[in-house]
This record gives sequence, structure tokens and C-alpha cells, in this order.
Amino acid sequence: MVMQNDHNQAAHPNGTHRTGEENLAGRRLVVMSNRAPIRIVREGSHERIEPTVGGVGTTFLRLLEHHGGLWIAWSGGQKTPPRLPFPPGHPQFAMSFVQLGERDVSQYYYGLCNRALWPLMHSMISNCHFNGSHWRQYVLVNERFAERAVAEAGAGDAIWIQDFHLALTPAKIRARRSDLPIGIFWHVPFPPVELYMVFPWREELLAGMLGADLVGFHTHRYAAHFLDACERVLGAQVDRRSSEVYYHGRSTRVLAFPLGIPVDYFERLAANPATLERAARIRRALRSEIVVLGVDRLDYTKGILERLLGFERFLEDNPAYHRRVTLVLIAVPSRTKVTDYIMLKRQVDESVGRVIGRFSSAGWVPIRYLYTQFGAEELVAHYLAADVALLTPLRDGMNLVAKEFVASHPGDDAVLILSEFAGAAEELTEALLVNPYDADAVAKRIKEAIEMDPAARAARMRALREKVHDNNLERWSASFLHALAGDFTLEAHPASLASAD
Ligand code: UDP
Repeated sequence: MVMQNDHNQAAHPNGTHRTGEENLAGRRLVVMSNRAPIRIVREGSHERIEPTVGGVGTTFLRLLEHHGGLWIAWSGGQKTPPRLPFPPGHPQFAMSFVQLGERDVSQYYYGLCNRALWPLMHSMISNCHFNGSHWRQYVLVNERFAERAVAEAGAGDAIWIQDFHLALTPAKIRARRSDLPIGIFWHVPFPPVELYMVFPWREELLAGMLGADLVGFHTHRYAAHFLDACERVLGAQVDRRSSEVYYHGRSTRVLAFPLGIPVDYFERLAANPATLERAARIRRALRSEIVVLGVDRLDYTKGILERLLGFERFLEDNPAYHRRVTLVLIAVPSRTKVTDYIMLKRQVDESVGRVIGRFSSAGWVPIRYLYTQFGAEELVAHYLAADVALLTPLRDGMNLVAKEFVASHPGDDAVLILSEFAGAAEELTEALLVNPYDADAVAKRIKEAIEMDPAARAARMRALREKVHDNNLERWSASFLHALAGDFTLEAHPASLASAD
């Protein structure tokens, strides 16, 4: 999807100009997130707007394109007008950009968000770097986002804030606008309170989130951890039956909303003859009887090194499978300027080299390592080409790849091996669940997946597909908004959602 940026508003069929901010149900949704779902590409004097690929951005881009509203976000460092109707030719919603300076980017984004909150939320304390000036910048940036929301939001709007970058924004908006329903969805895990306690600004972060009426997590476990933290760190009153926190005269509901995927979109791509042809081409090029696939951003939470150890153990224990199995490892470049990620990249490169050097023989290389980001078509072709998905995060909020893999196998002819520590494991119990820290267990799961009889394989996959189908992206957003504002129901347009790309 590539659009020309003419910065104009499109003519509405009834003759008026459509700004894209009318909501189908008569109320307007205001989404807030750190990153905007688009980027502006400049080529000489010409500008193009491209949506960013994958993750939360894509999720909400699809939602707002079909339901209208306003999106407040950082442009990602590019010079942007303060407001932009989007998509430019036929606006469906408006973007409102918050500008961040160099200091904001280094201290708020790379510092507090990426080097403190990200590892903390994933229970990886040894990766945490806490720094007072990073925190102060985080407070300032949250203030700026809140100011923008206060200036933009009209009576009757509902505000839906995304993720840990903006944890303080709910309370900062609430302080000035008691009328607005405010929800925050936490896209990462929430750690057990014993680990959370190490955060130097543990009270402030929780108090910030409790400015919301509704706090959403992917799983019941993360919600329970959050309730524990509110009780122990803030001394707040917690009602676990109704899942409510009472703090400073207000109450906040804390619920689990497991994020879904646009299932139709993946099913349609997987059934497309062009994708099938691509998958066949990938398979032919690999010249391997069995294909095992791993897909993640190159992040230390994803257990890529542990996956390689497990695969290595599998090859050690099962010489009969040499020359028959190939692991395709797709590692998407991520946070490439952060030291921990630079070091991880080096370690992954070394581990891949070690396994290839140890086991390759004439005509067979056991790992195909792709350090790149694919578009949806190529990614789904890889899903289709694989017999087994091996997803071993050490900790993961949800892991959408697991759901996308399931949705991309309508023939039920594949096996999903999934870490117990992915949020998706709470729902996808028919996967072969595994402890990624246990290389022997990973090796055994790979063998079990390969040798599973076709009927058992199909039964598991069918059950998984039903779950992924039932809790799709539309249902996820509808249930969050319903819990937030009751009558705030979006019309579902699954067919048009599916064709959003
Ligand atoms: N993805 C992609 N291209 C790739 C690999 C992944 O677009 O080459 C997308 C994938 O479709 C998924 C997202 O990146 O929607 C990864 O989401 P997930 O929840 O698995 O992990 P996250 O990166 O958000 O931690």
C-alpha cells in the first residue's frame, strides 16, 4: 500500500468534504501511541506516505481506516505537518503529530522505554538500565502527549492509549478532563510484583496508569500481576472479583483482552495462488524434506539463541534427521542502535555459524538465516512453506506470529511449537508448549512435531484455528471499546478490514 501525499481532503460522495474524523457510531475514537503507523518518504521534492509494517501500528491503522477517528502519535523523527488527513487521497481518519526532539528520542525513547521499561516488563532485570534524567524526560514527553489529547478531544470522545511508552498519560489527561473515558492497553507483559519492585519510579508509573477507567492486558496473568503491584506498591484497594482498583477516590477496571489478528486477511493471502506459488518456490529452493520456521524481531526477549541451542541439541540427538530438516530463521532488524541488540546480533550470527559449521554436509545446510523484514505476502509464503513453527520467546506479551502461522494453514497441515512464556500460550493450548530455557525439551518437541501423525496434527491445528478465528482483531477492539465506554460500539466490517493492505 503506497499512497501519494497530496495533503488534500477528498470530496465526500454527498458533496461535502470528509475529514475522516466522523465515527460510525456518532462518537469519535482518539487513539494515542508512541509511533505513528505511517512514515513519510522524501524523494527529491516529492513526498510519499507509507504505512509502517507489522505490529501495533498495522493493527490500529486498519481499525481507524475503517471506523474513522483521530490518532495522536510521534512521527518517528520526520518533519510532518501537525495534522494530516489519512490516507491522503481518501481520508478515513486524521493524524495529529507530536514532535519529539533529539533529547526526547535518546532519553525518553531509547533510554526509559527501550532500556528500562521494555526489559522490566519482560522480567529481564539484568538488561534494565535505570537513569533519573531518562525518567524525567519520559515524564515530560507523557505531559506533551496529554496536552495534545486535552486540546484535541471533544466531549463524548473516547481515548484509547497504547502501551508502556505512555503510562503516565492517562492520569495527566484525567487531571484536566474528568469527562473523558480513557483506556490504556498494555501490549507487553506485566511482571510479577517482586520483579516490578526494582523499578525506581514504581509508584508514579502505576498511579499514571490508574488515571484510566480501563487497563487492558493480553492475559489474565499479567492483569493479576498488575493488581498485585497496585495493592503492594501503592497500597490501593483491590477487588479481585470485579477486577477493580480503588485509588485516590476513583476506580479502574483491569481486564484481559487477548489481541487477535485480522484472520480473513491472512486466510485470503494464504489461499492466493501467487502466495502458493511463492511458497512452492521457497520450498524448492530449500530442497529439504522438513521445514521448521522461526520468525521474530531480533530481540533478546525472543529466545533466538535458546532456539538455536534447542535445534542444535535436536541435530545432536537425531543423526537420522540430518540432511532432512532445515531451520529457516527470519530475524527482523530491530533497535539496531541499542548496545544490547548489537551484542545479540553478534551472538546470533555466531550461533548460526556454529551450527552450520558443525552439521552441514555436501548439499545440505541445516539453517537458512534471513536477517531481513518481509512484507505480508512473502511472510505468509514462508508460513505456508513450513511444516513446523518453532517460536520460543523467553517472555512475550502475545506473539502474533503464532496466530498468523495458524491462520495461514487452512489445510491444518502444520504444527505449532510455542513457548510457555508467550501470552498466546494462555489461549493456544493445543500447540506443543515448551520451556525455551530447556534445550532438551525443545529438541524433543521438534522431534515430536515432525513425527506427529497427520490426524493428531490436523486435530490440534483445527482447534487452534477455531480459537484464532473466534478472537480476531475486530472482536478484540470491539470488546475493549465496549468495556471502556459501554455504548461505544464500532460497526464490524471484516471484509473491508481484510482488504486493507
Ligand atoms: N512481521 C513482518 N515481517 C517480517 C516478520 C514479522 O511484517 O518479516 C510482522 C508479523 O506479521 C507480526 C509482527 O511483525 O504481525 C510481529 O508481532 P509479534 O507479536 O509476533 O512480535 P513483536 O515484534 O510485536 O514483539
